Amino acid sequence: MPPPSQQQAPAHPRIPLEQIDVSVLSKEKIRELFKSGRLPTVEAIVEEIFFRATKMGATDIHFEPIEGELRIRLGHEGVLKRLVSLTPDMTDNVMSVLKTRTTLNQFEKKKPQEGRYSAVYHGEPMDFRLSLIPVLAGERAVIRILRKATQIAKLEELGFSKANLDQIKILLRQPKGLLLVTGTSSSGKSTTIYAATNAVQTAEKCVITVEDPVEYRLPYASQVQLPSDRSFNFADALRAILRQNPNVILIGEIRDAETAVVASEAALTGNLVLSSMLADDALGAIHRLLNLGVQPYWLASTMVGVVYQQLMRKICPECKEPYELTPEERSIIAPYLEGSDAMFAHGKGCPACDNTGYKGRTAICEIVSVTPELRDLIFQRGSILKMREEALKSGFQGIRRDAATKVAFGLSTIHEFVRVLG
Ligand SMILES: [Zn+2]
Repeated sequence: MPPPSQQQAPAHPRIPLEQIDVSVLSKEKIRELFKSGRLPTVEAIVEEIFFRATKMGATDIHFEPIEGELRIRLGHEGVLKRLVSLTPDMTDNVMSVLKTRTTLNQFEKKKPQEGRYSAVYHGEPMDFRLSLIPVLAGERAVIRILRKATQIAKLEELGFSKANLDQIKILLRQPKGLLLVTGTSSSGKSTTIYAATNAVQTAEKCVITVEDPVEYRLPYASQVQLPSDRSFNFADALRAILRQNPNVILIGEIRDAETAVVASEAALTGNLVLSSMLADDALGAIHRLLNLGVQPYWLASTMVGVVYQQLMRKICPECKEPYELTPEERSIIAPYLEGSDAMFAHGKGCPACDNTGYKGRTAICEIVSVTPELRDLIFQRGSILKMREEALKSGFQGIRRDAATKVAFGLSTIHEFVRVLG
């Protein structure tokens, strides 16, 4: 049998998961069916879950042992949706199938574990990243689905407003320096750094990336993938890359102090460094780098700008209709709106959007361009409050304003505004 990493996902008969759902059938009835051999194997059930998740374009699969059930939910466009609930006594077997696929230790149930494998679904090669943690009722597993063949979007296609897009393009015109795209996890930040890398590459430039894992293939770049045995890390790879005279370096993500320091070093030596980082807002990212140990004078001389972004679901065009805001909803959004010509809308739900009222997502963002005054403040390790004041003077607008504008244009809803931004 070939290792799981080279397996083609088998074509298989569709399994009616609905018929083994504990919310439909009693646990006793399911156990009975199982014992009599009239139920598919756990392997086949897991395969069906993967088949459906990949078909609907899910980004992750959650296997959660909770009170009285093993609940399986799919993450799609940032929202979880229940697929099926299996009997709790299947938990061990399901975890065992997942561990086999990722060649993890079957018998380890008390420690967090991570694994990965590749397979082809619906003609598309995909990477699956498994994360397991022990919980009271067994183990909880999350599979992240990474699609390899996905085309890199253009910056213009991500939904940035014209003003924000123009500002990003100005930042990308810098020949050197550090440009960060920040956000929470699954906020679309890596899509943006790949699109940005695509926008700056030319035949005369040397582009090198270091990623964990390589998410998209860039035909013009040399891509370094961190090895799964961790024999070298981001910082080691970066130091080696610097000796190869690059012009543009893409660092998948700055996760630790060492990478942060080497990334700013790389920017200081004349490279344009593009990277992503977890952060709660654009100015917070600057402080995070300082707290990770990047010297203020280094950051002050290299930082070009920070983009902080989130993704908002767009209203389904098939079932969009005007929507009247309640006074409470109006009070949430009013501080971020200018003028009164808003056209609020929502999707009432239709087959095209699986009755969610939403289809596709758009990026919303705030951008800090580092001006000489802000540079000075970074050098002095100024407070976020002071930096914010300075940024506002040069036209900085918070992410809420961008989001509110999209709601007022009838592109997204007040509910999304609250869900994404709180
Ligand atoms: Zn619809």
